[in-house]
Amino acid sequence: MLATATKPLNAYDVALENFDLAANALGLDDSIRARIKYPERILCVSVPVRMDTGKVVRFEGYRVQHSTQRGPAKGGIRFHPNVTMDEVKALATWMTWKCAVVNIPYGGGKGGVTCNPKELSMGELERLTRRYATSILPIIGPEKDIPAPDVYTTPQIMAWIMDTYSMNKGYPVHGVVTGKPLSIGGSLGRNEATARGVFYTTLSSCEHLSIPMAGARVVVQGFGNAGGIAAELFHGAGDKVLAVSDTSGCVFNANGLNIPAVVAYKARTGRLAGFPEATPITPAELLALECEILVPAALENAITEENAHAVHARIVSEAANGPVTPEADRILNQNGVFLIPDILCNAGGVTVSYFEWVQDENHLFWDEQDVNAKLEKIMKRSFADVLKIHLDKKVDMRLAANMLGVSRVAEACRVRGLYP
Ligand code: NAD
Repeated sequence: MLATATKPLNAYDVALENFDLAANALGLDDSIRARIKYPERILCVSVPVRMDTGKVVRFEGYRVQHSTQRGPAKGGIRFHPNVTMDEVKALATWMTWKCAVVNIPYGGGKGGVTCNPKELSMGELERLTRRYATSILPIIGPEKDIPAPDVYTTPQIMAWIMDTYSMNKGYPVHGVVTGKPLSIGGSLGRNEATARGVFYTTLSSCEHLSIPMAGARVVVQGFGNAGGIAAELFHGAGDKVLAVSDTSGCVFNANGLNIPAVVAYKARTGRLAGFPEATPITPAELLALECEILVPAALENAITEENAHAVHARIVSEAANGPVTPEADRILNQNGVFLIPDILCNAGGVTVSYFEWVQDENHLFWDEQDVNAKLEKIMKRSFADVLKIHLDKKVDMRLAANMLGVSRVAEACRVRGLYP
């Protein structure tokens, strides 16, 4: 409803274009390109679900393993009406480069079911999840492919997947999914990890650009796990969060929103629209607000060639995957906007998913301070790695991140002996 893109863009085309740009900049050998560019395995499944009415409805689901060169495939599962095979392929591809950018021992994967969870009862959602998990069961597992939450999937949904997998194996297998509830092997800090990563990389960007973080004006599109918690962290750091949005609407306060009150309002009503102490604005107005930090944290193609000129932010922190199209990238770049690319900015989620998997496999759990300290170290180091390429090679931040990710996967491929 609030999508700002008017021209539908295929996310997989964008992912392939990003890869080509990085491979060209690296002068990558054609044989290696052919090996690492495309998904290794794609599974499309039928998910029949008995609805509460007694009727059976068929949904379509996907699991894509883009790469296992550096370790098992890793990536979230999305339940959304707009899920397509190409979208899942794009998200899986980005996961490969993302895991390589933060240098964790994973490849890239992603899954999704084309459905609207908002229209399903709890029972229907559980049956859909268990059926989908059963259908992709042959290709997932702690050593093969480890799903996690993404848009409209939750720790409860991860618990059902873990339970379905474990029932089939005959023993509990905690490491098959991450983003689980704490009571079945989830990690402290996982729920906030994506937003924390966004926060740390934005902090590093402010330091690089000499923008004072305290008091910075922040705008957030999307108020779920990534955007909602990021808004809380920015608010907690003394920033002025001017506007936030979800599918119900956008709310704005020139003096800064009281984010804890916004969170409480959304928890009570299920929506942002109608929040008192704020003015409603349109999605286009939200993206055009003058601010230091703009955080797209909803879906792909939020900033396109049609609205990129209107962006008046110093920094765009891509909490969402693929929120800025390649053409919009060029416009933001020309206008001097500093972009923290998705495969760096939102990598905090998969980083703490990795910590969760390590803890599950070792049956030994860490304090939240340990998790957050390790996350901060990895995010700041990865930011510095990407920034160095940006400055040394004089390429934009997205290309720098893709060059780092692609070069690490190519190197893994080379040393495994597949290529000279
Ligand atoms: P979520 O389901 O928790 O929240 C999504 C939010 O976006 C909701 O508030 C929804 O109302 C809002 N939204 C959807 N369409 C919108 C629109 N057109 N305009 C404004 N708001 C809209 O999902 P999430 O986990 O926060 O994921 C959001 C983005 O972050 C996705 O691109 C996802 O791939 C990415 N991401 C998430 C994680 C994670 O750990 N959850 C990790 C990395 C990246």
